[in-house]
Amino acid sequence: MKKIGFIGLGIMGKPMSKNLIKAGYDLVVFDIVPEAVEEVVAAGAVAGISPKDVAARSEIIVTMLPNSPEVKQVVLGEDGIIEGARPGSIVVDMSSIAPLVSREIAEKLAAKQIRMIDAPVSGGEPKAIEGTLSIMVGGAQEDFDKCLPVLKVMGASAVLCGDIGAGNVTKLANQIIVAGNIAAMGEALVLATKSGVDPDKVYNAIRGGLAGSTVLDAKAPLVMDRKFEPGFRIELHIKDLGNVMDTGHEVGVPLPLTASIMEMMQALKTDGLGEADHGALIQYFEKLAKVKVKR
Ligand code: NAD
Repeated sequence: MKKIGFIGLGIMGKPMSKNLIKAGYDLVVFDIVPEAVEEVVAAGAVAGISPKDVAARSEIIVTMLPNSPEVKQVVLGEDGIIEGARPGSIVVDMSSIAPLVSREIAEKLAAKQIRMIDAPVSGGEPKAIEGTLSIMVGGAQEDFDKCLPVLKVMGASAVLCGDIGAGNVTKLANQIIVAGNIAAMGEALVLATKSGVDPDKVYNAIRGGLAGSTVLDAKAPLVMDRKFEPGFRIELHIKDLGNVMDTGHEVGVPLPLTASIMEMMQALKTDGLGEADHGALIQYFEKLAKVKVKR
């Protein structure tokens, strides 16, 4: 399968699509932002005129969009993928969306013999650029096997977690853990700073121990340098935690920890930080303690 459609060329979609071009795939791309399309076309892709057009010219159609409504619109809406895709082609939705919506979309596609896997990612922009994302997949084994060479270009690992929707359930679990780690890091570095201990020393002393984590290594240096450009926007993390809450309540799982971190993020959004990186969660704790964490 050499012909790939790619829809959604944002922070993540741009480097992911460029890596596919570098690996020798023929790409047809689409985004509602013309500059994003121009940049990927300059890297070797061809511009499609709509999701329908992209789908008609591809064997695998990758989507990397913000949330469930955008994926529904692009796949099932007017001039959507469903109108152009040929039977046997596979939609690979790599956006982080509600698992129930993945199942709903897959059912509608199946009625037209169009296959789908959900394949959200973790790792953020740096790993999207390196092609070393962690990819969590839901769908049929046969479809996963067909898409694996393509996924391996974008990711260091791709794990089939279960049927359609299982990729997004896994991503929700991932987002609970990431949010919790960032919140704990924020509270801890604020405590250190206000106690008069250099947060950089604290970070270096603990990073090799049990408190060390990928999140700590990715976010602590940025926070201490006061770098809050996204990365992963607070607004998108709020979206993910909203999907966590909906899914949890649907299956009967109370989520007290996620609920409180979600409200901290909402407070920051109200404060005008919705577009900042989720590392800016530390500013919630800084405000409470009247202190700033920096090197
Ligand atoms: P983004 O907002 O930078 O990119 C989304 C792109 O989709 C934009 O270019 C936008 O113009 C395009 N788009 C929106 N509606 C569209 C439509 N109807 N038709 C065509 N294009 C449309 O977001 P991102 O950071 O690239 O994230 C994409 C997905 O990946 C999200 O679900 C996010 O949660 C997930 N994700 C992001 C990160 C990260 O660090 N940024 C990490 C892991 C997962």
